Amino acid sequence: MILGSTWYPILTGMSRFDREKWIERVENSCYVSRRTRDLRAVDHLTVLVAWCQARNIEIDFRRMTGGEWDPESRFILCSSSARPEKQVYTILHEIGHWMYETRHAARSQATTEARKGSVRYAVDHLGEEYEAWNNGARVAAQLSIPLDESWECYRIECLATYIDWASSRGKGYDDD
Ligand SMILES: [Zn+2]
Repeated sequence: MILGSTWYPILTGMSRFDREKWIERVENSCYVSRRTRDLRAVDHLTVLVAWCQARNIEIDFRRMTGGEWDPESRFILCSSSARPEKQVYTILHEIGHWMYETRHAARSQATTEARKGSVRYAVDHLGEEYEAWNNGARVAAQLSIPLDESWECYRIECLATYIDWASSRGKGYDDD
C-alpha cells in the first residue's frame, strides 16, 4: 500500500507498460530538469516489468494514488499519473508485499481477517510495510537499480503516513 503521489501528465490507454509511450510522456512533461532522471527511470521500469512478468505478476497502471498489491489477481496496481521514478519506487514496494506474503502466508491468512481493527493488526501491518520497503530495496540491488536520497525520502514519507494510520486506527479499539 502506498498513499499519495506526484502529479505528472497521463497518456490515454496506458494501463500496461509501453516503453515508447513512457518516453513520450517524459518528453511532454513540464519537469524539464528531471528529464534525465525520468528517462533513466523508464529504463528501470522496463527491467522491473520484465522481472514481474517472469514471475507471473502483472502491472496495471491506472488513475489512482500510489500503488497496491492484489494477491487474488497477482496484479500490482500503480498510479498512472506519478513520475516514472515514483512508479519504480511504488512497484518495488509492492513487489516487497508479494515477497512478504510468500514468506508469511501461513501466519497472515488465518489471523488478519479476525483482527482487523485491532491494535495488533495495525502494528503488524506496520511491520509488513517496513519489510516491503526492505524487500523492494533488495530487488533493486539485484536488478542494479540505484536507490538514492529520493527513494529514502519517499520511503520515509510513506512510512510516516502508515505510522499515523496505525496510531489512529489503534485508538478506541481493544485488542483481544
Ligand atoms: Zn505498502
